[in-house]
Amino acid sequence: EKIIFSGAQPTGSLTLGNYIGAIQNWKALEQDYQCLYSIVDLHSLTVKHDAEAFRKQNLSFLVQYLACGLDPEKNIIFFQSHVPQHSELAWVLGCNTYMGELNRMTQFKEKSQKHQNNINAGLYTYPVLMAADILIYQTDVVPVGEDQKQHLELARDIAIRFNNAHGETFIVPEGHIPKVGAKIMSLQEPDKKMSKSDENLNSTIFLMDSEDVLLKKLKRSVTDSENRVSYNDEQPGIKNLMTIYSKLTGESIEEIQAKYEGKGYGIFKKEVAEVVVESIRPFKEKYEAYMNNLDYVEKIYQSGAERATEIAEITMKEVRNKIGLMPK
Ligand code: ATP
Ligand code: MG
Repeated sequence: EKIIFSGAQPTGSLTLGNYIGAIQNWKALEQDYQCLYSIVDLHSLTVKHDAEAFRKQNLSFLVQYLACGLDPEKNIIFFQSHVPQHSELAWVLGCNTYMGELNRMTQFKEKSQKHQNNINAGLYTYPVLMAADILIYQTDVVPVGEDQKQHLELARDIAIRFNNAHGETFIVPEGHIPKVGAKIMSLQEPDKKMSKSDENLNSTIFLMDSEDVLLKKLKRSVTDSENRVSYNDEQPGIKNLMTIYSKLTGESIEEIQAKYEGKGYGIFKKEVAEVVVESIRPFKEKYEAYMNNLDYVEKIYQSGAERATEIAEITMKEVRNKIGLMPK
C-alpha cells in the first residue's frame, strides 16, 4: 500500500487555503492510500509563543483536522512531537544538507523578513525537519500546496544523496499539487497567498470564523473596477473568488463564468459567501461534537502516535545501521 504524509503547523487556526489546498485532497486520497497526517508542532517552535496557549491550540488544531472529516480510523493522525524519530532523523539529514541549499529557500527569506527579531536556527533548518517528517515514513506521495514545492524538492534531493552515499534507504517522494486551488490568495492582497499567520485578519478566511465575520470578510475582499466575473490574471481578486467557489461546489470555472455573466460583483460576492458558509457549517458542527468528546480525541492521537512510531522506528533502525552508529 502506498504511503501519504502531510502536515500543518498548529500556529493559528486552519484557513480556507489549508482546506482547499491540502485537506480536501487528503480526503480524496484516504480511500486508496495509507495516510499519515501530522500536526507538526515542532515546526511551530520557530516562532515565539506562550506555552499554555500553545498547548490549547495544539488540541484545537487536532480537532479542526478531525472536523474537516478526516477519518481517524483509516488515517494515522498524530502530533509530530510524539514521535521523536522525526527529530533524530532531522539531525542526520542536516549533516547531509548544505547551507547553500538552505540559503536558497524562499520561505526562509520571507519568514526571516517577517520575524527580524527572531531569525533562529530552527527557522533556517526547518526544511530539514520537514524532509525528515516525510522520509521517515517511506512516503510515496506528499499532497501539499504550491508554497511547499521547493521544500519538497529539497527533501527529494536529500533522499537521493543519502541513498547514493549509503545504499537504498529512502523512497524518493513525489509531490501531489492540485491543478486548481493549489494557491488560495489573500482576500486583501490577491497577489499574496492566504496564510494563517497573516497579520491582517481580513485577508484570511478561518474555518472557525463566525458566519457574520465570513460574510464581512468576503464582502470587503479586494477586487477591481471591471465589474465582470471573469477568470484571468488581470483580475486576481475575482479569479481567487472563482477558484474558491469552484473548489467548494465542484462547478467548473466555465460554468461559474456563464452563471454570473452580466451580473455585478455585489451578487457574486454574496453568493461566494453563501457557498463558503454552507461548506464550513458541517465543519463547525463536527468541531463542537469532538470538543465535547475529548476522551475519544485523546484515543485518536495516542493510537496515531503508536502506529506512526512503529513505522518510523523501522526506518530509523536502518538509518542508524547504515551510517555506522553502534547498536544498543
Ligand atoms: P503559515 O502562515 O503559518 O505558514 P499556512 O497557512 O501557510 O500557515 P501551513 O501549515 O504552512 O499553513 O501549510 C499547511 C498546508 O496548507 C500545506 O500543504 C500548504 O501547502 C497548504 N497551504 C497553505 N496555504 C495555502 C494556500 N493559500 N492555498 C493553498 N494551499 C495552502
Ligand atoms: Mg506555510
